[in-house]
Amino acid sequence: DSASRGEATSEKLWELMAEYIDTEKSTIQKAIVAHVEYTLARTRFNFDKNSCFKAAALSIRDRLIESWNDTQQLFTAEDKKRVYYMSIEFLIGRSMQNALINLGLEDKYREALEEVGYKLEELYDEEVDPGLGNGGLGRLASCFLDSLATLDYPAWGYGIRYDYGIFRQMIVKGYQVEMPDYWLAQMNPWEIERSDVTYDIYFGGRVEKKWENGIEKSNWIPNEIVKAIAYDNPIPGYDTFNTINLRLWKSMPTNEFDFQSFNQGDYFKAIETRQKAEYITSVLYPNDSTPSGKELRLRQQYFFCCATIQDIIRRFLKKPREWEELPDKVAIQLNDTHPAISIPELLRVLVDKYGLEWQRAWNICYKVFSYTNHTVMPEALEKWSVELFERLLPRHLEIIYLINFHFMNQVGQRYANDPKKFDIMGYMSLIEESRPKAVRMANLCIVSSHAVNGVAALHSNLLKTQLFARFHEYFPKKFQNKTNGVTPRRWIKCSNKGLSDIYTKYLKSNNWLSDLYETKNLMSYIDNEEFQEEFRQAKLQNKERLAKWVEKECGIKIPTDAMFDIMVKRIHEYKRQNLFALYMIYRYFNLKAMTVDDRAKQVKRVFMVGGKAAPGYIAAKKIIKLINSIGDVVNNDPDIGDLMKVVFLPNYCVSSAQIIIPAADLTEQISTAGTEASGTSNMKFVMNGAIIMGTMDGANVEIVEDIGIQNAFIFGARVHEVDRLRVQSGAPAGSRLQRIFDAIKSGTFGNPKELSSLVESLEQHDIYLVKSDFYSYIEKQEEADAVYKNQDRWLKMSITGALNMGRFSSDRTIHEYAEDIWDLESVEIPKPSLSAISR
Ligand code: PLP
Repeated sequence: DSASRGEATSEKLWELMAEYIDTEKSTIQKAIVAHVEYTLARTRFNFDKNSCFKAAALSIRDRLIESWNDTQQLFTAEDKKRVYYMSIEFLIGRSMQNALINLGLEDKYREALEEVGYKLEELYDEEVDPGLGNGGLGRLASCFLDSLATLDYPAWGYGIRYDYGIFRQMIVKGYQVEMPDYWLAQMNPWEIERSDVTYDIYFGGRVEKKWENGIEKSNWIPNEIVKAIAYDNPIPGYDTFNTINLRLWKSMPTNEFDFQSFNQGDYFKAIETRQKAEYITSVLYPNDSTPSGKELRLRQQYFFCCATIQDIIRRFLKKPREWEELPDKVAIQLNDTHPAISIPELLRVLVDKYGLEWQRAWNICYKVFSYTNHTVMPEALEKWSVELFERLLPRHLEIIYLINFHFMNQVGQRYANDPKKFDIMGYMSLIEESRPKAVRMANLCIVSSHAVNGVAALHSNLLKTQLFARFHEYFPKKFQNKTNGVTPRRWIKCSNKGLSDIYTKYLKSNNWLSDLYETKNLMSYIDNEEFQEEFRQAKLQNKERLAKWVEKECGIKIPTDAMFDIMVKRIHEYKRQNLFALYMIYRYFNLKAMTVDDRAKQVKRVFMVGGKAAPGYIAAKKIIKLINSIGDVVNNDPDIGDLMKVVFLPNYCVSSAQIIIPAADLTEQISTAGTEASGTSNMKFVMNGAIIMGTMDGANVEIVEDIGIQNAFIFGARVHEVDRLRVQSGAPAGSRLQRIFDAIKSGTFGNPKELSSLVESLEQHDIYLVKSDFYSYIEKQEEADAVYKNQDRWLKMSITGALNMGRFSSDRTIHEYAEDIWDLESVEIPKPSLSAISR
């Protein structure tokens, strides 16, 4: 009714606004045309594809803003607990198709655009792909936001609006070349700049102490202040009006001028200082799973934590309340340790700014935070030198010392009679007594959070029994598992139209999109020939789409009747792209040794690898070069022809993943057991009908539990065998593998001066057990060929996998976080008030 809509808004105004967002074709068209002419200031006469994309995106954003505004109002009115998902990366990918699907408007937009001369699918390709993340961790954060919105949870994402996302990878003469990705060069039509939401962020300086009523008070006097400004990105849920917010911070200079420099006539120096403020959010660190010990990285972390905590507290204080209510209204999930400085920051705000007594502040803080660990590899755990911390964040270092003081007292008491007491304390301390001394961010997170989780069952167990065993003994109830998941909206519906149509047709509804367990019901069709044929055709079309893409991007023609064997993920020794490369060479040598008749009986395979190497990771870059060199030899060998192709897919990113993943027959998930925390591409591939060639690592273990181990090709050492095998890592390679090593060292594939070191490190150290897994790997590869020759059996394995992936929807994961960690209730958002009039 009009009273509840606010007195200032007239009935007429409401009607007009409602008309603007009705879903008539002509309304959609008018909005697009108006944006072209009036927002973009293009004329009707140079209305091109790119401006049409932007205008269409802006018209979709208008619709999102409506439900987004209503969602935020309702969250505030209902005053329910909110979860804040803090992540230094969000690998968002393109937004247009996802938004249309979630709004249920894809067909209407397609029709509306067709009449004005544009194909919706071509507009999708005009969108830049915001790469504000490195890989799995950042993409997980984006899948989680999609699920949080879809499940009607009151949630916010918080991160950094980098000017430069992950570099664009070019392959030049087989080498990776990194190009800057200035993704904002084209306007970002989705974001809303919030010049009214800004916060000051301090750095450096000193801490002043004074006594007040017998209590020591601390006051941080910084020597640098920068400003954080909010950019909001509406995230629509699927089939709901819940539209949540991803708030990304950009750094800016403050308006407080350095009068001293200006007065001294040093105008340039004063401007330079101001520019330094803008550097903070200028570039995403392209390192994956190793910390970069750079001062700027610590600045980025604190900058985003400080702005986020201020924003959360401001929202909390909109109503008068007791501080003890904070954990009833706020849950903060730390996506790895990158946002860990939020912990001392919240304590600092509570104690120094609001005058809470330490123990009281600690009790509140402890209930607010929870921490997700993403790696068991000790070298990937973040540490900051105490010296750097002290220089940049002097008060936070004091607070970390204080947390540690209390914690060490408790640990000391608990192990008072243990002869290893001091070792245990040294191990659990937040401070590593190394040179230089360092702050251990994971220890800070474990001690200060009420829940700690790993991201797959195997990984969570390793945290408890190995990496954090002492902590688990000390805090047994704190450790949990939350197996990762991926959103079926983007990873099936947006990426695989053929499969989506099959599901909707046979299930007679779209419900599978919000309840992926439903697809299991289609197992009754496993022997139905029509169903099988549709499934086969969908895969073939996806393969044809990828083949076109490969021809355009790499200039290589690949046969679509070959098995597509694909490995796409960051290049890393533990992921073992090198093992895959060794198999390619093995297969090539075998083919070469065969008679022409025998060759003709072999399964054709196209090997595809994609992924970026961290720019300073030399071994990873050499692996890229090796794969390209293998391609040069194999692809140009007339004996081989279409029997085998090797392609390096350049610039792997979310939008290419959406084309690559649905086209795979076989997916390589071959990390050394115990090294890959979960993996998420494994889930995406199986959901799209690929069969896993993999190890018992990460979420592979749970995937085969659900789809049946007979529906995957599993090889290699199990996690309990790894330590024993590593002892023998200097053992000889065996003759078949040695022949491959010798070929690389003698220059059969690329320049041996460059590539021999890859082989030598396997011969000498082989910490990831490439040699010991090699023979069981080639056996499984042979089995894969044999099954592929029996296309009926292959198809059934593929279908069974795809239909049994319900557990790996990020909806299931988010439900578990909400229940077990956040204690979060969903809030149903009613149809937005405007649409209620018009629809
Ligand atoms: N990069 C992109 C673009 C992705 O979409 C994904 C997941 O699918 C990853 C990286 C992570 O891949 P993986 O789980 O294989 O490491």
